Amino acid sequence: MDMWLREGQIEDAVMTYKVKETLVRKKTKYQDLCIVDTYALGRMLTLDGIVQTTIKDEYVYHEMITHIPLFTHKNPKKVLVVGGGDGGTVREILKHPSVEKVVLCEIDEDVIKECKKFLPEISCGLSDPKCEIFIGDGIKYVHEHKNEFDVIIVDSTDPFGAAEGLFGGSFYKEISECLTQDGIFIAQTETPFYLPDTVKRVYDDAKAVFPITKLFMAGIPTYPSGFWSFTIGSKKYNPETADLSNTIDIDTKYYTKQLHKACFVLPKFIEDILE
Ligand code: SAM
Repeated sequence: MDMWLREGQIEDAVMTYKVKETLVRKKTKYQDLCIVDTYALGRMLTLDGIVQTTIKDEYVYHEMITHIPLFTHKNPKKVLVVGGGDGGTVREILKHPSVEKVVLCEIDEDVIKECKKFLPEISCGLSDPKCEIFIGDGIKYVHEHKNEFDVIIVDSTDPFGAAEGLFGGSFYKEISECLTQDGIFIAQTETPFYLPDTVKRVYDDAKAVFPITKLFMAGIPTYPSGFWSFTIGSKKYNPETADLSNTIDIDTKYYTKQLHKACFVLPKFIEDILE
């Protein structure tokens, strides 16, 4: 008998994946965690039935959420990741030699534990001596740290449950206070195709806090519509016009210096959403 995983993040549209094997399925303190091996995309982490990351396409998300802000900032030394327990974002951050310390603030320690066990290609950076892991709520962590991080990456689940408070004006104000004076923040901000109101609200909320706010897109096959947005709030550096002439070459599969500039050119319907 064939086994299929049915993903239903969007109410009226689902994706299904043929499953080879279920590696772990458990109820953690916060969510239903599952790692399966699939025929199409290799091993895949789902939380509450929603695909978070897969071996085959994880590089798009992790490279774009990391290298756009880190190459925009002139000298990122201290980076905070809120969420991101699979470790892919930390792995990419550690490719930047200027970074001295990464703090990963993840609410659910089971995500870290199971990803270390079943997704070592993604979680490998979590054991690096530069990486400090803090188990707790990102909202509280950001509130308790002021003027500390050069870059803050909100690598969270979608805006419900524990992650709900990670999207919105009051959190972005706290983020701004947690950043240094030329700091940059970035968050994954959902799909403008299915969730235009969420994308617009989050963009407007960031714009009310940061002098420079930009939205860019990346193509992520396993996220609904494949069309995913990221929002950047910056105190000083403009990611769209960043000087990349002296940046080091790092090993990537999606990010390039040309794409760094091109990803900010938006299709008309997204420009209309943001207006
Ligand atoms: N790439 C992913 C995506 O967009 O689907 C996000 C992956 S990462 C696994 C998301 C993590 O955010 C989860 O492990 C979840 O436990 C964590 N998270 C959710 N709310 C949080 C909060 N308030 N503080 C810290 N971590 C949180």
